Amino acid sequence: MNKAIAIISASLLPISLLVLSPVSPVLDRSAGPPAKVAESYYTVKDYSTVKKFDIHIHLNTAQPAFVKAAEKDNFTFLDIVDDRPFGVPRVEQEEIAVLQTRNFPKQMAFATTFPVAGWNDRDFAEKTIAGLKQSFANGAKAVKIWKNIGMDLRDTNGKFVMVDDPRLDPILDYLEKNKIPLIGHNGEPRDCWLPLEKMTFSAGYYGSHPEYHMYLHPEYPSYDDQVNARDNMLKKHPRLQFVGAHMGSLEWSLDELAKRLDLYPNMRVDLSRMPFIQLHTLQNWQKTHDFFVKYQDRLVYGTDRQVNVAKDSAALEKNVHEEWLSDWKFFVTDDPFSLPAYGNLKGLKLPKEVVDKIYYKNAQKWLAAGAV
Ligand SMILES: [Zn+2]
Repeated sequence: MNKAIAIISASLLPISLLVLSPVSPVLDRSAGPPAKVAESYYTVKDYSTVKKFDIHIHLNTAQPAFVKAAEKDNFTFLDIVDDRPFGVPRVEQEEIAVLQTRNFPKQMAFATTFPVAGWNDRDFAEKTIAGLKQSFANGAKAVKIWKNIGMDLRDTNGKFVMVDDPRLDPILDYLEKNKIPLIGHNGEPRDCWLPLEKMTFSAGYYGSHPEYHMYLHPEYPSYDDQVNARDNMLKKHPRLQFVGAHMGSLEWSLDELAKRLDLYPNMRVDLSRMPFIQLHTLQNWQKTHDFFVKYQDRLVYGTDRQVNVAKDSAALEKNVHEEWLSDWKFFVTDDPFSLPAYGNLKGLKLPKEVVDKIYYKNAQKWLAAGAV
């Protein structure tokens, strides 16, 4: 674990360089205004030659088809294990992750998680840390904390356990101290707490799953409770190397997201809310473009793809390729896109340098910060 101590936090590096460098254009007035460097851009053709990373994948099968598809498209990825009560159980997800990572160490890494079943046991934190250490010994590189904390788990008094609960602090302290990256899926899209007619994209889903539609369950924590608990957790653990899954559950407002990125320098978010990003782009292309440029060190590409057993691996490959390529086209070109029920927009056409960070470098830095 000691090697990580010598590594300077990646997100602090540009600031210290700017302050210390004697040739910084900010300090050197004799140099005159810096020459405007022409931006360069990728094209659709560059897709297969540029190295890319998808930070949010769920491998629910030991089949190699997805990994092979990723290799073909020049993608490496992070497989995320989580503590969900449906589908492939957590222990099996982890077995799949260990096996796939052993078979394809150059193609992927995995994030482990911890069960909350023993929450009320006195030695919960101790046992959880021991379990995490075991996962790191088996190759895990990061940890996922899931929305069951905040939306399902209750203490012995029936009160919901939120992510800033002091009983989680020893575990988060351990991750913080050892620079072990944490991914947090805290809360849900804000839609979940709105009436169906006010939702942006989720009315179909929540309309048919009223049990998960929080607007109908005011006895559950509110949307603000979820965001506040996550913010409070980051306040308590300022050096935690954190990625907020799904744009940190602030998908509906770039302004609200920007506030958190400004407040918490070790927070990043994944982009696995593409329809929302496209809606922001449709509503205000320039603002969305500028947001991506301003926060280029804090945004990490990810899709939240569930990879299930595939009978037809060629169809899987085609499907994966089309989704990834469409996102690439959105970020690198200004080609037209259509957002059903909303209208037409054009791609963000981000400069190469920004694309390289969002698609690869930021995730690599974040993973490299870890001691495992
Ligand atoms: Zn996910």
